[in-house]
Amino acid sequence: DTDKDSRRRFLLKLSGEAFAGGGGLGVDPDIVHKMAREIASVVREGTELAVVIGGGNFFRGSELQQRGMDRARSDYMGMLGTVMNCLALQDFLEKEGIDSRVQTAITMGQVAEPYIPLRAIRHLEKGRVVIFGAGMGMPYFSTDTTAAQRALEINAEALLMGKNGVDGVYDADPAKNPDAVKFDALEYGEVITRDLKVADATAITLCRDNALPIYVFELLAEGNIGRAVKGEKIGTLVSS
Ligand code: UDP
Repeated sequence: DTDKDSRRRFLLKLSGEAFAGGGGLGVDPDIVHKMAREIASVVREGTELAVVIGGGNFFRGSELQQRGMDRARSDYMGMLGTVMNCLALQDFLEKEGIDSRVQTAITMGQVAEPYIPLRAIRHLEKGRVVIFGAGMGMPYFSTDTTAAQRALEINAEALLMGKNGVDGVYDADPAKNPDAVKFDALEYGEVITRDLKVADATAITLCRDNALPIYVFELLAEGNIGRAVKGEKIGTLVSS
């Protein structure tokens, strides 16, 4: 058994989009299975991993608002969407033999525990993956901001931002611009002033104010979560 004091703890942010696979909408079980395998292998090696999952594969509050819906209600729909992703990941983690708990910021006792930080930490210490759902439970926030807040509250050493189809932060969209240059390292301030696509500004400033490093990397390449945990130079490190 790995000595629990020597174990490292990370928070992994997964975008909802990744869950949809190529489809864009809903959950692709094959993709979730793949993510679960990756997470399982990292946890088996003795790393404590908590996960925050987005909900962009179901609803984004801002998009529903643009189409005439009330923003707060749309945001609640967005938060509820994240919970479906959490349950899908939990299911495949279980199939990999990894214990996990879903904790949601909106209570729904039949499907998940409520968000209780100290209990989340206990789960992590026991080698369970803790999956945080329903964002912060508050409209006008994002799951990126949730990820930063949860990482801080559970005392994770870094926020790992697994991206879908891009291996770090670039000075332009590499899908549209072949000359886009990838950064190996960035300061928080540069991310904000250059409006680089790492996370929303609320999340970045929260990380900056509390010196929480963010590591951006390609999520679905085999073995990448493990590489990110080991600090291998596969993506972009945002720090002070
Ligand atoms: N959301 C919210 N408060 C939170 C987290 C999320 O209102 O604390 C809503 C918001 O509408 C957001 C949606 O949930 O658009 C889905 O989350 P997000 O867009 O962060 O998911 P991702 O882009 O990572 O898939």
